[in-house]
Amino acid sequence: MRGWIVGAGYQIYSRCDQFVVTHYKGSKWAAAPAAHVFYCHLDGSFHPERRCCSQQNDRSITTKPVIEFLRSRRVLIKGALRPACISFENGRIVAIDDYASAPAGTHVMDAGEYCVLPGLVDSHVHVNDPGREHWEGFRAATAAAAAGGCTCIVDMPLNSIPATTTVSALERKREAARNRCLVDYAFWGGVVPGNTDDLMPLAQSGVRGFKCFLADSGVPEFARVSEADLHSAMPVIAETGLPLLVHAELPEPLMAAQMRLQSTRPDWTLHAAHLEARPPEAEIEAVDLMIRLCRKYRCRVHIVHVSAAETLPLLKQARLEGLSLTAETCPHYLYFAAENVPPRATHFKCAPPIRDATNRELLWNALAAGVLDLIATDHSPCPPDLKQLDTGDFNTAWGGIASLSIALPAIWTAARDRGFTLEDIARWMCANPAHLAGLQKQKGQIAAGHDADFVIFDPDARFEVTPNRLHFRHPLSPYLGEKLFGEVLQVFLRGRCIYADAQFAGERLGMELCTVNQWSQG
Ligand SMILES: [Zn+2]
Repeated sequence: MRGWIVGAGYQIYSRCDQFVVTHYKGSKWAAAPAAHVFYCHLDGSFHPERRCCSQQNDRSITTKPVIEFLRSRRVLIKGALRPACISFENGRIVAIDDYASAPAGTHVMDAGEYCVLPGLVDSHVHVNDPGREHWEGFRAATAAAAAGGCTCIVDMPLNSIPATTTVSALERKREAARNRCLVDYAFWGGVVPGNTDDLMPLAQSGVRGFKCFLADSGVPEFARVSEADLHSAMPVIAETGLPLLVHAELPEPLMAAQMRLQSTRPDWTLHAAHLEARPPEAEIEAVDLMIRLCRKYRCRVHIVHVSAAETLPLLKQARLEGLSLTAETCPHYLYFAAENVPPRATHFKCAPPIRDATNRELLWNALAAGVLDLIATDHSPCPPDLKQLDTGDFNTAWGGIASLSIALPAIWTAARDRGFTLEDIARWMCANPAHLAGLQKQKGQIAAGHDADFVIFDPDARFEVTPNRLHFRHPLSPYLGEKLFGEVLQVFLRGRCIYADAQFAGERLGMELCTVNQWSQG
């Protein structure tokens, strides 16, 4: 039976076959009288405790379908916040009506003045499991996602062992994820030299698209592709209709920069040295190459983590030409500026690097103009020792920034300063990433027929980022100590509450989203 929900204001306890809801006496909800959120049946009877069964055949003992109602003065629908009442059943949204539309005698969950947003979709997450689960695993990553208001992650094919470059490796991924995920998930496959024959089988097995590196990926099991490799792979990917996600830095400009840099005996404890080692030219030349290949093969291309603003005119021109080319940037490029990175602060290291404040503002402008389509975290954690904080060496420290649980407040904090709205954020962090991964009919919007994935969000709450708010395996992030606006109060996945008032549901309800074979749990 699906569709049970637990409203905020109630403590959640879970055993394997039972979901128990008791009254919560905490101060936060008591202090918000507009937010009476509670839990009931269509018949209006209140159930403080009831069985929650996952077996399909238990559906037969249900006497009537459960329709649930959630309303707020600010629900994000069709790109605008407005008063509305959402009804949903069996995990899917049935209808969206006026705020006061719930039938007389029914109880509704009322989020008051809090915003109800669609669940976020993060299309760029490195879970590293199997093989490097001591870096990040599905349990921790999906808990962090839930706490961040994200109801679906799409996992990158590298940093796990094996990398997801064959169907058997994809099955290993599925095995690692099964019954461990708090939120829904899907997989990108990998393109590496010599695996062209694996691409169609991977597509047929349900990956949502492919990822490749033009520069060294940092791990030996995921080799970079050359232009010749792409000539082989892209016609096949074009045939699948799936997107090719590209880490767009070319190795030659990177090598030239390294050579220049080494001759000057750089101080590698400074972020400035790392910045010099990854110049914009590497991104510009890579984007230029991908535009040419996109034009030649008519293969969907998506540029991941755009950092250098110099690439934006190229992306804009490609879009004007009508090429099927999209691009993302990441919270750390939009929030931080290179000139403010302290010496030895290698937890700010990522590739391509965080650039200066002028560059950052150009990225914001590109999001506003639709030249950049979406924001994805590129959540890429590692054990603290690999960050080499003791030596602070930007040359040898692992590159990657972890932010899955706090991307929404970080982006909201930076966005509201610049006059952007939650409507903009929903486009960049919900609808557009869902579209990239082919999930637009299920995720990324509050609309009839979509999954009942909701985030109850207080845009005016302010908090400091502390390790206990991160939830990923290693609570190390450049956002620690930042004071952010916007608190995720409660998160629903397919109609079920998975996160409320800093607590997680005990059940792992996340499922793989896979159009081929309709992959199902167990
Ligand atoms: Zn990445």
